[in-house]
Amino acid sequence: MIEITWTPEQRSLRDETRTFVQERVPRQLILDMDSDVIHYPRQYVQDLAGCHLLGLRFPTEWGGRGLNWQHEVLALEEIGVLGASLACLYSLPSIVGEAIHVFGSREQKSKYLRPMLEGRLTVAEALTEPRGGSDFFGATTSARREGDFYVLNGQKRFIVGAEGADLFLVYARTNPDASSHQAISALLVERGPGLEVQHVYGLMGARGGGTGRVYFRDVRVPVENLIGGENGALEVFNQMMIPERMTSAAGALGLARASLEIAARYADRRKAFGKLIRQFEGVNFKIAESLTRLDAARALVHETARIIDAAGNSGTVRRMVSESKKFATETAWAVANDAMQIMGGIGYTNVYPIERLLRDARLMTIWTGTNEIMNLVIQHEYYQELLNLPPTARDVEGDARNADAAGEKIYE
Ligand SMILES: Cc1cc2nc3c(=O)[nH]c(=O)nc-3n(C[C@H](O)[C@H](O)[C@H](O)COP(=O)(O)OP(=O)(O)OC[C@H]3O[C@@H](n4cnc5c(N)ncnc54)[C@H](O)[C@@H]3O)c2cc1C
Repeated sequence: MIEITWTPEQRSLRDETRTFVQERVPRQLILDMDSDVIHYPRQYVQDLAGCHLLGLRFPTEWGGRGLNWQHEVLALEEIGVLGASLACLYSLPSIVGEAIHVFGSREQKSKYLRPMLEGRLTVAEALTEPRGGSDFFGATTSARREGDFYVLNGQKRFIVGAEGADLFLVYARTNPDASSHQAISALLVERGPGLEVQHVYGLMGARGGGTGRVYFRDVRVPVENLIGGENGALEVFNQMMIPERMTSAAGALGLARASLEIAARYADRRKAFGKLIRQFEGVNFKIAESLTRLDAARALVHETARIIDAAGNSGTVRRMVSESKKFATETAWAVANDAMQIMGGIGYTNVYPIERLLRDARLMTIWTGTNEIMNLVIQHEYYQELLNLPPTARDVEGDARNADAAGEKIYE
């Protein structure tokens, strides 16, 4: 078990989070969110804050615990058993908080970061627009400077937490003439006149998390709410992709673990042809395969967390964060899918939560950057590393009998 290597502090955080998940999240909340009776569970966010579980990585001065990614991922695995919406709402203060913590002024930290971690201010992050999410820098929402304000116009879609958020981190075009990478700014936008949220989606899963479409119509945003400098969104975006994708990855571990445990217990009780179904290879190999994937995903996520803690942001970190997001979310999907198969027909019903977890898992391969976009990042950063390797490693390409047949090495 990976936890053998954990510090006492890590174990106690895991236990604390596990206790919160067990005692402070009513079953009815999950059911009401899934049936869209509850659109946004504000009390849940406040309860997390009350237990001092939000924004663990941020300094105590601003309401965090001064911990690191190695702590946050293990807390997130525990929260992840609750499904995608509750895990995402748990993650949003970590995601939006990252922008404020890394790029914000002391005033912004005091006005927004602390209240957020104390549960007095709820947040959402608004990147995606109707005309495209993967092509983020094609964003058309605009913020025109007028004196001490920006006037914000445009719309964002699929924004988790939008229905309940008091504050939005919004990316908008502040320079209509520059190339995209020099044209966009990140702004902290308070809910107020001109900002409208619509609940327009019938979601397959991840319901009840306040996912909405956000309209900005001449919203006046004070210039001091700029994060990272005017037209500086590229740097903010690159930093934000760490918490966005790491939280997706770590939450997916919890969902996968819960699905596997339910299916493995079922297989230990359910009989067919006079035997427990776990005695059939068709079933127990699925359990073995799922567990192997889960352990591999967890190892990758924890190793990535360790590297972020040691190295901050870099090409290698971006590659590993993307690998973690891709591999952990694909693991969650595969494990939940196999859990359903192991359980046969009853797994497809709402007698067990597998069908809900499977619906949630499907989203994880799409949001916070699709897994195709993860591949784009992974191969890009790999080539940066590969083509810049110092020539100290053995030239393995030369270990072939005809390695010097230069005339056969035709590349064009
Ligand atoms: C329930 C839900 C919650 C969400 N929450 C948020 C949120 O809180 N905040 C937020 O800002 N966004 C959020 N999103 C948006 C999400 O991050 C985007 O949907 C996602 O990034 C994909 O963007 P898109 O939907 O515009 O798809 P598109 O960008 O149109 O992509 C369509 C397809 O083309 C593929 N594709 C696109 N470009 C490439 C390429 N270069 N190479 C290979 N394949 C490519 C994609 O992988 C995908 O398969 C949420 C989405 C959903 C459904």
